[in-house]
Amino acid sequence: MIGCLKCKKPLKILINLKEPSFKCSSCAENYEFLLENKNLTIKKKNKNINFYFDNLSVSNNDFNNKIVYELYKSGYINCVKTLNPDFCDHNSKWVMDLNNAKQNIIKNFEQKINLLNNESLNVHTTEVKYYCASCSSVYNFGRAVDNNFTCSICSDNLQPQNADNEILKINSKKELLNNKLLLLRTGWFRAADK
Ligand SMILES: [Zn+2]
Ligand SMILES: [Zn+2]
Repeated sequence: MIGCLKCKKPLKILINLKEPSFKCSSCAENYEFLLENKNLTIKKKNKNINFYFDNLSVSNNDFNNKIVYELYKSGYINCVKTLNPDFCDHNSKWVMDLNNAKQNIIKNFEQKINLLNNESLNVHTTEVKYYCASCSSVYNFGRAVDNNFTCSICSDNLQPQNADNEILKINSKKELLNNKLLLLRTGWFRAADK
């Protein structure tokens, strides 16, 4: 689990959008929170936790309302309402529970790896296919014959799809995902276990 480096409790980052600042919800220790493209890094004392958001498009590292909303929509942060005793209404706070976020992302990666495993099984079991190098259209043998081995979209010659190449492509995608998973599992996740 991901624990706060100071108080060792499970790390929930309170997001203050006005400053912006990112603090442990238990002890108010400050953390750095960096967003760049689809990577998020939480930093403290040279220790990093990296997250990879596959279904999130973040164009820069300015932390703003739009990015908070994107993170919220994708299920990575929650909105917590607390009673404001002075005005008898509720304050809203944005909180990122790092353990939940990590589990979400691991689950997404594992699903993707499973899909890739199925894909490589299909490459082995299906008939020879033909593809167009220009537009990536894929034809089965019958359709390739009907089209005289040319692409119906761009008229280029069709080429037999090489199963070994397909497997290599799938394996390199899998390796990328596995490396990201490994990064996600390293860092200071066990700080709270001690
Ligand atoms: Zn703390
Ligand atoms: Zn084509």
